[in-house]
Amino acid sequence: MNETKLQKTGKGYSVATIGDLNSFKGKVFVKNVLGLTSMEVSFGTMPENTAVPFFHKHKQNEEVYIILGGKGVFTLDGEDIEVEAGSIVCVAPEVSRCNRNTVKEPFTYICIQAKAQSLEQAVADDAIIEQ
Ligand code: ZN
Repeated sequence: MNETKLQKTGKGYSVATIGDLNSFKGKVFVKNVLGLTSMEVSFGTMPENTAVPFFHKHKQNEEVYIILGGKGVFTLDGEDIEVEAGSIVCVAPEVSRCNRNTVKEPFTYICIQAKAQSLEQAVADDAIIEQ
């Protein structure tokens, strides 16, 4: 299991590392170390031919899984969806989900979760361009 290390904090920012993604193992949540207030972000790696040992839903949060490496299957409300590095999977709170690695290489992903329907603005509507 890798350990998240807080590297630097300043007024309004924080920088941390989980180390080398190629040797990363297990699952790490970074909300607390970074002081995030609007989302949880986690990094996960599953060894060959393993699965998350439970299905789950959420009360309020939608999740986005960004697949960084390997190949696997997400089972979403009973439907199997094949994914691979580059796939992006968005899951609404009420959808039952589980994922598994289906190949010999590690299945590595980032999961971001935030309250569904809470985003009021993004990108151009929220950015303040400075010179
Ligand atoms: Zn979840």
